[in-house]
Amino acid sequence: MPILVMKFGGTSVATPDRIRRAAKRVGREVANGYDVIVIVSAMAGETNKLVEYVEETGQFFDAREYDAVVSSGEQVTAGLMALTLQEMDIPARSWQGWQVPLKTTSAHASARIEDIPPANINTKFAEGMKVAVVAGFQGISPEGRITTLGRGGSDTTAVAFAAAFGAERCDIYTDVDGVYTTDPRIEDKARKLDRIAFEEMLELASLGAKVLQTRSVELAMRYKVKLRVLSSFGEMDDTAGTLVCDEEDIVESNVVAGVAYSRDEAKMTLISVADRPGIAAAIFGPLSEAGVNVDMIVQNISEEGRTDMTFSCPTDQVPRAEKAMQAAKDAGEINFHDLVADTDVAKVSVVGIGMRSHAGVAAQMFRALSAEGINIKVITTSEIKISVLIDRKYMELAVQALHDVFELEKAG
Ligand code: ADP
Ligand code: ASP
Ligand code: MG
Repeated sequence: MPILVMKFGGTSVATPDRIRRAAKRVGREVANGYDVIVIVSAMAGETNKLVEYVEETGQFFDAREYDAVVSSGEQVTAGLMALTLQEMDIPARSWQGWQVPLKTTSAHASARIEDIPPANINTKFAEGMKVAVVAGFQGISPEGRITTLGRGGSDTTAVAFAAAFGAERCDIYTDVDGVYTTDPRIEDKARKLDRIAFEEMLELASLGAKVLQTRSVELAMRYKVKLRVLSSFGEMDDTAGTLVCDEEDIVESNVVAGVAYSRDEAKMTLISVADRPGIAAAIFGPLSEAGVNVDMIVQNISEEGRTDMTFSCPTDQVPRAEKAMQAAKDAGEINFHDLVADTDVAKVSVVGIGMRSHAGVAAQMFRALSAEGINIKVITTSEIKISVLIDRKYMELAVQALHDVFELEKAG
């Protein structure tokens, strides 16, 4: 039997009624002749609640126990989905990550998938089971502990299953009907894309568009998984949604494909560090060892042998970054006057493969921001993206201004 992977996000399984609606879609694919692997998220809001419970226990908690707690939301929806399918006379059972087993690294809270041996599930398919419902977002480490794949990780579970089982397609059902030129919750004029290139989706995801987890796009690209994003609330239509595909399969496109934002950014500045060879290594080495994901870096002009070093990282990593810098200072590896954290910033980015061959996008972007009176704090660029750090209060305005100036409401 051909295999299909169908992933349902938090809002699509938020209530027993929605689980029933999702199960109907699964039933339709079973009737179409597929063996289906369903990947479920926790009910909407559930993972946030579990994370809060853990954070209430203290600031520097044991990541292994964090994973034991936050993986539990998916266990509930997997069981409920299997029960709902059984009620519809569809042979189904649930699997937690460790039961599959979905093997991961031991990097708790952001583990990477190493292997998904298909034998256990395939044996059940051979015995007549039609649907394997798998709890997303979780796996098991070499030490036998439960791991999770980072927020939004069920997308990655889904793509990894599609690759491991040679699925015909991986359908990601969510609360919007596809990938848009920007988050439709921020910009009414956002336009749904019929297709988007892997490279563009990868950048948009890593720059904050949470519709797909970054790692899921990476895996789909590497294993050539046919990946589709669509709504679990719309009509059951085989051509619905957005197909994430190779660049060559896109006929028309704009220079800028989309605008992404991330509000979870912090800007940290080490004031007055000695400007000497090796200083960057002495700062960013300890940050990396402490697991801080440094994104943008700016070294300011130096005066009398001293300089300020600015970097950005996710807001929740600020305490870790501060601890690592203080430890390096106490050990005499670096010396700085002060460490200032600005957590009221956001990152806004424009992405498009057309930027490879089209000059002037940066100038146009900066002009549009300046016309709105928005001050740019830090800039970074790559071949197909430009990102700026700005005050968080201007984030929505910046997204809308950029969507306008690049005329994203119109198809290219
Ligand atoms: P799920 O729970 O189904 O995994 P998510 O909340 O993780 O859903 O992702 C879907 C959300 O992503 C949408 O509700 C939307 O607000 C947001 N989003 C951000 N950028 C985009 C974009 N470019 N296109 C579509 N949705 C986007
Ligand atoms: N439930 C997890 C989260 O909220 C995983 C997911 O939904 O993809 O991050
Ligand atoms: Mg998600």
